[in-house]
Amino acid sequence: MRLVFLGPPGAGKGTQAARLQEKYRIPQLSTGDMLRAAVKAATPIGLDAKVIMDAGGLVPDEIVVGIVADRICEPDAKSGFILDGFPRTVNQAEALARMLRARNMDLDAVIELKVDEAALLARIEQRVKDSIAGGAAVRADDNPEAFKARLDAYHAQTAPVSAYYAEKGSLKTIDGMAPVDAVSEAIAKALGG
Ligand code: AMP
Repeated sequence: MRLVFLGPPGAGKGTQAARLQEKYRIPQLSTGDMLRAAVKAATPIGLDAKVIMDAGGLVPDEIVVGIVADRICEPDAKSGFILDGFPRTVNQAEALARMLRARNMDLDAVIELKVDEAALLARIEQRVKDSIAGGAAVRADDNPEAFKARLDAYHAQTAPVSAYYAEKGSLKTIDGMAPVDAVSEAIAKALGG
């Protein structure tokens, strides 16, 4: 099973992708997590990405495409993967299609979580509270200014990716405002059980 999750920041992509990872025993590949790891390890990519990420912008396509191209060749991704946070531009979606075609692979589905954007800032604020309560680090881009930039980037560059996949017939749109379990059920149904 090869899946892509689309949706604005705070839509619940990470939460739902983590659930599917357990269900299908395929890895959740979050480009945000991979980039944060690169920032933490202070690799050359991480050093370049940090400023952009902290401001809520998008890291250049060639960097993210390179990271994903390497990651999907790892042994654990052989029988499938869930891409969370990638592709975020039509250019990335086209690069992904080329990568998969070169390996005689295809996506099984693209799941888009639709949410009421007015509720998103509240969700991000809750994520910050949960992180603090759980003793976890708060993301540098989970603040109102960076969040607004992330939402703007989503509208300008990622929303067209939904149209790209809708045209290909692989887009499954799910109501992301429902309770977490109901969203999981709707996804399972969309994937055929
Ligand atoms: P996320 O954890 O998916 O919210 O991603 C956090 C940040 O990482 C984003 O705001 C971007 O700066 C960067 N990022 C993650 N995935 C991508 C991507 N596919 N393309 C460009 N930038 C990305």
